Amino acid sequence: MLSLNASLLLSDVHLSEERTAQVERFLDLLAGPARDCAELYVLGDLFEYWVGDDDADAPLPARVIAGLRALTAGGTRVRLLHGNRDFLLGPGFARLAGLELLDDPVCLDVQGVPTILMHGDLLCTDDVGYQTLRAQVRSPAWQATMLAQPLAVRHRIARGATAESGRAKAQKSEEIMDVTDAAVDAVFRRFGARRLIHGHTHRPGHHLYRVDGSDCERWVLPDWYGPGGYLRVTPAGIEDIRFPG
Ligand code: MN
Repeated sequence: MLSLNASLLLSDVHLSEERTAQVERFLDLLAGPARDCAELYVLGDLFEYWVGDDDADAPLPARVIAGLRALTAGGTRVRLLHGNRDFLLGPGFARLAGLELLDDPVCLDVQGVPTILMHGDLLCTDDVGYQTLRAQVRSPAWQATMLAQPLAVRHRIARGATAESGRAKAQKSEEIMDVTDAAVDAVFRRFGARRLIHGHTHRPGHHLYRVDGSDCERWVLPDWYGPGGYLRVTPAGIEDIRFPG
């Protein structure tokens, strides 16, 4: 039976043909625990990379879409925002999966609590090089040029970008790739909310802040390169669920 008072949130599943364990774990979640929930939020980087909705009938996307479609057909509402790997997920994918695309950041009522939802990359404001790249690849002009390339070329570009991002990360300090307090404060103030949930940094945790006299909390979702997990939000609070390693 559908429990209207539970929402699941996850991010950074980084689905790829190579990591079959994560694929099965994600599909099991869709066919299992998520079915009993009112909502599932995917906060970015569901896929290791996405080259365009015209790739939706490739084997991995087709399985993921079928899983999402079965879930949404069963009554669970699925909402997704983009990560830095799958920002080309478009309306075609959303329609096939039966899900809704969200802006980043967005503030929504999650189980009675106004909650700011983000992928998390926008909070890493010390990484100026990355923010410049982000602005470039999110521009309509860049995306139109990319999507005009043949699929095989886009796959090659995406694989190259993934490798390049790994090399860039290896050369940056840990601090540069984490969120900044200034960006976190600013987003709490902008929305006047006290709860923020995001992924991206691969530093799962729960952090408390005092902003303009209010107690605020920031939850960071785990990535699925490791065992992975998700948050289960009910009116009673938040449960941090991790898969066994
Ligand atoms: Mn990310």
